[in-house]
Amino acid sequence: MPDRSSLPRLLVCSGVMAVASIMASAQAPTLSDNVKAYVRTSAAVIALTNARVIDGTGAPARPDQTLILRAGLITDIGDAARVSPPAGAEIIDLAGKSVIPGLVMLHEHLYYPTGPGVYGQLGESFTRLYLAGGVTTMRTGGNMNGYMDINLKRAIDAGQKAGPAIDATAPYVNGPNQFQQMNAVNDAAEARRHVAYWADQGATSFKAYMQISRAALGAAIEEAHTRGMKVTGHLCSVTYSEAADLGIDNLEHSFLASTDFVSDKAPDVCPGQGAGQQAITALDENGEPFKALVKKLIAKGVALTSTLTVFETFTPGRPLPPGLDVLTPQLKQQFEQTHARVAQNTQSNYLKLLPKAMALERAFTRAGGLLVAGTDPTGSGGVIPGYSNQRQVELLVDAGFSPLEAISISTHNGARYLGRDRSIGSLTVGKQADLVVVNGDPSVTIADIRKVELVFRRGVGFDPAKLIASVSGRVGLF
Ligand SMILES: [Zn+2]
Repeated sequence: MPDRSSLPRLLVCSGVMAVASIMASAQAPTLSDNVKAYVRTSAAVIALTNARVIDGTGAPARPDQTLILRAGLITDIGDAARVSPPAGAEIIDLAGKSVIPGLVMLHEHLYYPTGPGVYGQLGESFTRLYLAGGVTTMRTGGNMNGYMDINLKRAIDAGQKAGPAIDATAPYVNGPNQFQQMNAVNDAAEARRHVAYWADQGATSFKAYMQISRAALGAAIEEAHTRGMKVTGHLCSVTYSEAADLGIDNLEHSFLASTDFVSDKAPDVCPGQGAGQQAITALDENGEPFKALVKKLIAKGVALTSTLTVFETFTPGRPLPPGLDVLTPQLKQQFEQTHARVAQNTQSNYLKLLPKAMALERAFTRAGGLLVAGTDPTGSGGVIPGYSNQRQVELLVDAGFSPLEAISISTHNGARYLGRDRSIGSLTVGKQADLVVVNGDPSVTIADIRKVELVFRRGVGFDPAKLIASVSGRVGLF
């Protein structure tokens, strides 16, 4: 029988070890020389002083705060009068600047439309651009490349490449379709096999697409849930109401991919994205049919992803999107021509649809729904990672959310969806030191969110200018 007197000490020891292992898991791994090239500071202890803190919960900004970053975590945060920098800390004076949580963005991609029906695989440049724009965690919203999302996720986690933490989706789960780079699952058994295979390969979430059948979607959701993974969908053949009944976790493009209100919708058939969007344009956000769908989605715990950025590129009269200069000259010119063509279509349905999307997203949120943010760098181009994430936050403000709400949707809500809000998505003691330093006050002037000066991920401060310079003018090649 062991000496009883040793018991308390053993307990204390195991407690210390538990804390140490939590600390270690938050701490960044040893960084490769490739990553170090983009790092401005990786000091063991960093004190950010005189900062305006926007904590991501929607709470008002707090001036004159000191934050202590140590071992990849925020270990203290408070008024300058209470919190002083520890001896030996690197002190970074943020007078006139703000700190927000790293963006948690959930409809991102590592591919981009480079030619007719073709998607270039741009993970190498995109991961750097996302980080430069302040994105510290992202979910890819379906992949067109097979292994790249998974391999890049692993390389970033291991400190071999610079980029955000990635929730890596598998290749899309879709029915028979026209895409050259997409698989087709014909039935429930094939859907199950697709999910099982990619989960075994290291994918961490799934996205269903426009031509999937109810049977295949149900099987995919069941298989993913068995493995503790979530499923989102950009749907068309399956309505939002049907998908909610099948247990889907998230729906993309808020209500713009809903076919619930197409009057002659046949089961398992996509009536075309345009038909769904015509019906949405005519929808009354105060009417019973819409309210009933919202009620169901909320009751079933289905989150919606706002991707206003990609729809803005389809809408006449909108400004050129930010970040085009990082593209190769050919891709930049290609998008500028698209933008000019869009501008001429003064009868475009998007003129009504974009404001409608904003109104519906507001109504869903006000009713208690979980709205998350993403950008979707696909469409006809022009949605440039990093830059577009900042634009998405601005567009949420255009949609009628306050700047603090827009920031919260783009940080804390994303973390809640991922089930990671205990470690990321807001700025409180004990959270991972994922935060963005911006020059100005985005709680008042949301456009200040474009003035990113420093991006911390797990306590390592990255220089956005260096990340951007490493790809500028060449995005489209890698
Ligand atoms: Zn997408």
